Amino acid sequence: MDLLKEKFCIDSRRVEKGCIFVAIKGSRFDGHDFVPEALEKGAKLAVVERPLGTGKEIVVDDVIDFMIELASKKLKAEIVIGITGSSGKTFTKDLVADMLPNSFRSSGNMNTEIGLPLSILNEYDGQEFAVLEMGVSKKGDLERLCRIRKPDVGVVLNVGRQHLGFFESEEELFEEKARMFEYSRMVVYNAEDERMRKRVEVLGKPAKGFGEKKGECRLVDWRYSFGKTEVVYEVEGSPVYLKLLDLYHRGHLLNLAAALCVLRLLDLPLDLEKIIRPKKEKGRFNVFERKGVTFIDDTYNASLLSFKTAIEAMEKMEGRKIAVVGPILEQGVFSKETHEKLSEILERIDGVFVLDGYEGSEYINPSNTLGRSDSKEELAEMVSRYLGKGDIALFKASRGVKMEEVLERVIEWI
Ligand code: ADP
Repeated sequence: MDLLKEKFCIDSRRVEKGCIFVAIKGSRFDGHDFVPEALEKGAKLAVVERPLGTGKEIVVDDVIDFMIELASKKLKAEIVIGITGSSGKTFTKDLVADMLPNSFRSSGNMNTEIGLPLSILNEYDGQEFAVLEMGVSKKGDLERLCRIRKPDVGVVLNVGRQHLGFFESEEELFEEKARMFEYSRMVVYNAEDERMRKRVEVLGKPAKGFGEKKGECRLVDWRYSFGKTEVVYEVEGSPVYLKLLDLYHRGHLLNLAAALCVLRLLDLPLDLEKIIRPKKEKGRFNVFERKGVTFIDDTYNASLLSFKTAIEAMEKMEGRKIAVVGPILEQGVFSKETHEKLSEILERIDGVFVLDGYEGSEYINPSNTLGRSDSKEELAEMVSRYLGKGDIALFKASRGVKMEEVLERVIEWI
């Protein structure tokens, strides 16, 4: 059997007939317990670390290493682009992939040592370019992901405080992300980040930086006009104007600058007609109007950086500005400090509603707080009553909070 031609599955509930089930041991469940169920549902084989005697097993030392090695064999792209960072990986990955001819992209946010190889094994189909999203949440992550393939171009978008809970310090998180520069043949880096600039300088590899004040691709200016974003870049000394058919914030526009750096490093033309409406996945700063209120659905996730970016974008819009927020999770011992900083950022708008009942909620206390509740229903009710025509309302919190459940109710009840 040629394993490279098979489909793989790690969730016994989603087994498709004829696939190979990989038994992964997670923090709560052990895939080995679900092997019989997977086989019953039609998996033709199971990859296991412990023999279970089903007669349909491949026994390996480490199932994750097995997937990584197999994905490495499967991925035959001539050029591989790896993208990491605290915010903007998915957006940038889609953007770069859209701008490249004949490209593969890792699916959704499948960016872990399990998700990325799985996405490659199931979906890579011989494309010339491959754009891979690489998530870093603990030490050693990037090394494992780069074992699939060392990127030809490695992109580090930013180093925020997201997932700091798994790291001892911001420096340690930076070091992990900076490994991208070591593993990659060429690099794209955030030129505003002094640490990155120094690191790239020392390595002396072909590199391009993006930023506002510094870098080869600079975001010079941008503004909103009738639901569109007009933006000016300077790419290696020449001005580039774009009119994007949706509202994008500074972060998106910097991600776009990073994507332009990738193309320049690969010596490919900047085909700007293709980028009139960069794709935003659901819950990532989706702007829409209901009953005269402009809603911003940024419920997918939150970090201090993405909060700041969202608030700053609101400041460029006309209208009373309200935020309905929940905490940034996984902050470990920094939770208090993070949410005090968040409160400071929130002071810049007209009013804030806080969802209580999550780790860190209690530290969100801006002076413009209009209401708070640990019930999503109650909070949605308060917000629905408060919002009126012409208002701009941002909904944002960490993924674990599921702030969309508040937003959905508000949209219904307003
Ligand atoms: P990731 O894949 O890294 O989680 P996404 O592209 O899914 O990033 O975006 C996650 C959140 O971060 C969204 O709220 C989005 O608006 C915001 N965001 C995207 N890029 C940036 C950036 N460069 N700086 C700050 N915030 C950003």
